[in-house]
Amino acid sequence: MGGDGPEWTGVVSERLRCCVCDGSTDDAEDYVLIELTAEFSGARQWLGAHAEHLNSVLAEGFSVEVHQM
Ligand SMILES: [Zn+2]
Repeated sequence: MGGDGPEWTGVVSERLRCCVCDGSTDDAEDYVLIELTAEFSGARQWLGAHAEHLNSVLAEGFSVEVHQM
């Protein structure tokens, strides 16, 4: 939970709330950013989440790993 290093936010300017637990991800070490794309319109949406929480709601066979950027 250092807080001194650069905080990865992905392509979004600030960290998004966790889409699973709705909690803050400011201090999360397992923060992940999910990109959704609409096939026909090309529209994009981003969701933030704790990787641990995301894994808990994913179907079997899917898993999220955190890679330090
Ligand atoms: Zn969460």
